[in-house]
Amino acid sequence: MLLHFRGPDAYGHSGDWNKYVNSIAVADSLLFELCNFIDTNDFYSGKTTLIMTNDHGRHLDNIAGGFSEHGDQCVGCSHLNFYATGPDFKEGVISSKKREQTNILPTVAELLGFQIDDSKEIMWELFK
Ligand SMILES: [Zn+2]
Ligand SMILES: [Zn+2]
Repeated sequence: MLLHFRGPDAYGHSGDWNKYVNSIAVADSLLFELCNFIDTNDFYSGKTTLIMTNDHGRHLDNIAGGFSEHGDQCVGCSHLNFYATGPDFKEGVISSKKREQTNILPTVAELLGFQIDDSKEIMWELFK
């Protein structure tokens, strides 16, 4: 299942800082509820993998319009949040290994039990 929270990108592009930050807080609270549901549900607990990420960062302040835009290689645009939890992953690991979005696909394929013809590396550092 893929959940996409449109608010942070849409409100970021609108340039409305308060709505942008609020939409991030709403997404965060919904993900918190989802994590709690999974953890406390007899069917899903201990056998559900959850990966949370964003599809891009945003410009840092003073770069091409700041937070309301994105799409270049500045430090802000090229940094993502990535959180993964589930029975196959180590707990409490904060990896400093440089990764790209394209590392997510082979990692998910590994979790689902198949390989893809891709030159990108699986994020083995996350696995037990
Ligand atoms: Zn956008
Ligand atoms: Zn940028």
